[in-house]
Amino acid sequence: MARLFRAWRSSRARRPAESLIFKAPDGLFGLSIPTPVVRKILGYCARELPNETGGILIGRYNESLNMALVSEATPAPLDSRAGRTWFYRGTQGLSKRLNKAWQDGLYYLGEWHFHPLADSTPSETDRRQLRDIAKNERYHCADPLLLIVGGRPYRNWLASSYVFPRSKPEIKLLSQPVKSAEQ
Ligand SMILES: [Zn+2]
Repeated sequence: MARLFRAWRSSRARRPAESLIFKAPDGLFGLSIPTPVVRKILGYCARELPNETGGILIGRYNESLNMALVSEATPAPLDSRAGRTWFYRGTQGLSKRLNKAWQDGLYYLGEWHFHPLADSTPSETDRRQLRDIAKNERYHCADPLLLIVGGRPYRNWLASSYVFPRSKPEIKLLSQPVKSAEQ
């Protein structure tokens, strides 16, 4: 734990809620999360401290299909289970929520997940979950995204993002500086 503690107390740590933009190194894929959604995620995380938590990301893609635009992050479904270093995201109410999203022209984009007081690197369990989702027809999502928030919400937190294409290795997306006008 001590090692992880130092890892997230680095200069990369963020303080207030601010919008997040990530891009693949080749620029062919990205993720954009506006400030109100980031604030909501941090709120869910703070509420569950010191336990992990998570939920799903809903939204749409931009016209050139190289940027996922998140419009909603859900809290953990009621049948989720969590401890300080593990989280099992339940499914209660999820089909209903996703059916509504699809009717509204929105999509399941991926998962968000909280590593309390720790770094935002995905575990092997996190990777397996996303690879399973990429293959699962129920989500209609061949390139699910994973957003991991680490550290302590609002005070000293950080975020990482990965995409898990169905038939290719995962890609770590790079955090992009956000212009104040976009916040
Ligand atoms: Zn995890």
